[in-house]
Amino acid sequence: MPMMTLAGGKQVECYENRACMVCGKELHGEVACRKYRANICQEHCEHCRWYIPYLQNCQYKRRKP
Ligand SMILES: [Zn+2]
Repeated sequence: MPMMTLAGGKQVECYENRACMVCGKELHGEVACRKYRANICQEHCEHCRWYIPYLQNCQYKRRKP
C-alpha cells in the first residue's frame, strides 16, 4: 500500500488515481478509501457503512478479525 508521511510524522495511505473509483468523476475533496484502495469522492465516503460519522473516521478493516 502506498504511504505518504505527513508533517509531524504520521503515515497515511495515499493513492494516485485522479478520477473517482466509484463514479469516475474528476476528484475534488477526495478521500483515500481503504475499501476501494483508491481515492473516492468525499460524498461516497460519508454514505459507506464503514464510515463512522460520530468519529468522522473510516473503520474498514481496522477491527481485528
Ligand atoms: Zn465519486
